[in-house]
Amino acid sequence: MSPVMETAEHQALRSAVAALGRRYGRDYLTGVVAAGGRPTELWAEAAKLGYLGVNLPQEYGGGGAGIAELSIVLEELGAAGCPLLMLVVSPAICGTVIARFGTDAQKERWLPGLADGTRTMAFGITEPDAGSNSHRITTTARRDPDSGDWLLTGRKVFISGADTADAVLIVGRTETASGPEGRTGRLKPCLFIVPRDAEGFQRRPIAMELHAAEKQFELTLDEVRLPADALVGDENAGLLQLFAGLNPERVMTAAFAIGMGRHALARAVEYARERAVWGRPIGAHQAIAHPLAQAHIDLELARLMMQKAALLHDSGDDLAAGEAANMAKYAAGEACVRAVDQAVHTLGGNGLTREFGLASLITAARVTRIAPVSREMILNHVSHQTLGLPKSY
Ligand SMILES: Cc1cc2nc3c(=O)[nH]c(=O)nc-3n(C[C@H](O)[C@H](O)[C@H](O)COP(=O)(O)OP(=O)(O)OC[C@H]3O[C@@H](n4cnc5c(N)ncnc54)[C@H](O)[C@@H]3O)c2cc1C
Repeated sequence: MSPVMETAEHQALRSAVAALGRRYGRDYLTGVVAAGGRPTELWAEAAKLGYLGVNLPQEYGGGGAGIAELSIVLEELGAAGCPLLMLVVSPAICGTVIARFGTDAQKERWLPGLADGTRTMAFGITEPDAGSNSHRITTTARRDPDSGDWLLTGRKVFISGADTADAVLIVGRTETASGPEGRTGRLKPCLFIVPRDAEGFQRRPIAMELHAAEKQFELTLDEVRLPADALVGDENAGLLQLFAGLNPERVMTAAFAIGMGRHALARAVEYARERAVWGRPIGAHQAIAHPLAQAHIDLELARLMMQKAALLHDSGDDLAAGEAANMAKYAAGEACVRAVDQAVHTLGGNGLTREFGLASLITAARVTRIAPVSREMILNHVSHQTLGLPKSY
């Protein structure tokens, strides 16, 4: 990586995290998942080294850096085969939103724990009937006129880590936003911190074909009573607050994808150098070598766009960061899927064995194409917002 693109500090962070990742590696993670556990030792060690909250403000125990640094942490752990998915939601989305829009009390209550990893927060926007069309979300908050409390009702799906997180940052809308801004139509989102054990807040695990420590949940909120200060930011601030969290989410998903792609590619290259069935290593055949070279180029290009998006976000240009973060997520998701596919193919039959550990990455890689925003919705965004083409919906 050229020093023009990455500072000496970034390079030092990259190699320090890579060294931590190597000490744990893929076997550690698959062992933990097989035993139904979580990578708590890795999480704790990364926390102790200051990696988990590297993007959060120093006054609340964070590293005072940005999403550029947090994405390095996630990419390098992923490249070592042991990504920590909760970095995408806890410090990147929830931490960013609270640091930027939370009250002093909310910052004091949440940021130190998110920064040192002792607490985590999940993020819930997806709803069964809204799907990719977030403007249709119907989770609604009503104010109790006597107490000033909020009463939150709705349903969410695919929420990662909701069982272990101390709370979920739930995206809803207020009842007062009626008419075209009410239960349907353009979203004026409100963000609520809902503690895991709040009354009326239930979760049901969704059986996924993913070998990951973090599970996905369907959440039901039935008149969940929350104090007035459960609301993060301004009730009327609209999309601005939400996008403050969604841009880091897309950058971090790109980091997750690039890390996974690099891991798969490295395993394939190692194999292709050794495996010989015609007297020379299969990596000498261009039909094997070229797709691997192409996968490497695609991952490098995706990383460039991810670095641009992180830079724009960290410099406070949310609008430009939005476009770049979407493009980075798209490029990284596509590069990851192709790298994993080619890696599996390079190993022949061994690509599908449990021992070599690549087959399970096929489904994992697909996640980066679908979540948090699908490739089609990014292509729509670029068609409409960047190119000015008309909408089909
Ligand atoms: C492993 C995993 C973890 C997740 N974690 C979280 C989480 O922590 N929090 C959270 O809130 N959500 C989470 N999600 C949800 C994720 O963000 C959604 O799955 C995603 O936004 C897509 O929504 P959907 O599944 O409803 O698909 P749909 O919206 O039903 O889309 C289905 C297909 O139709 C396509 N499509 C839809 N509309 C259009 C259109 N206008 N033009 C062209 N194509 C279109 C889509 O691209 C997609 O291919 C997670 C999902 C997964 C798989």
